[in-house]
Amino acid sequence: MPTATGAHTIFDVPASNQWTVTTEPNQKQFPDLSSLVSTAKTWATENMFSLFKLCSDKDKVVLACSHGNEYRPSNHGGKARDGIKTDCKFRLNAQKQSNGSWNLNLTNPTHNHARPSSLSGMANARRDSNQQHEEILRLSAANVRPNQIMQLLDENNLATKKDIYNMVARERRRKLQDKSPLQYLLNHFRETNIFHQSYTNDAGQLTGLFFAFEEGIALGKRFNTIFLVDATYKTNRFKLPLVHFVGVNCFKKTFSACFMFISKED
Ligand SMILES: [Zn+2]
Repeated sequence: MPTATGAHTIFDVPASNQWTVTTEPNQKQFPDLSSLVSTAKTWATENMFSLFKLCSDKDKVVLACSHGNEYRPSNHGGKARDGIKTDCKFRLNAQKQSNGSWNLNLTNPTHNHARPSSLSGMANARRDSNQQHEEILRLSAANVRPNQIMQLLDENNLATKKDIYNMVARERRRKLQDKSPLQYLLNHFRETNIFHQSYTNDAGQLTGLFFAFEEGIALGKRFNTIFLVDATYKTNRFKLPLVHFVGVNCFKKTFSACFMFISKED
């Protein structure tokens, strides 16, 4: 008894299960895509459904209900990520304007599936977003840049590049607590027994920070004939060049012996 329309419908959806959102997002114009997506997501949650980015290019993004898309035995291990996909045709379109702002348009307000009666029906969406959050932080900790993280996230990703920057910055603040980055680094060195020595000027400002890891020290003691010393020019935001002490072992292979941040290279 197929009642739903659409060539790709796989599940029969009784017509009584169709429902139409009765409100529209209050705001229609946004200074950037990130604020548009964030408002749309909040509005969808208030209306008991969740959104994903169906397709996007530089001027246009289509947001669909998480029940959108036909069910596909997925490439993520054979299980659909969000329970049953009913090929729901609910759509929000985001269009970039010539002045750089973004407009939001509700182009199809009708869902073809049951409306969850409570937010507990949204558990899948929340679980997905938590998993995605962890994945973003894991990639960021591995020094993957936000642009690359965007490419690595799967099709259900709703996070914009700005969301990723914000998430990473929040996590950084959480880790730092009240400490400055330098206090955090020194604490980390102390707690993990990493050999280090800091140098300060008369005003108490840091002028140098030497540190060495256990393996580097052991190798340096063993192969102590040749050391190459040079400063990298990829300085950090405090403009301290990093001096890298490279040793050479008996197989003429190099190893990192120790490091030092210096205030200037002379
Ligand atoms: Zn829907």
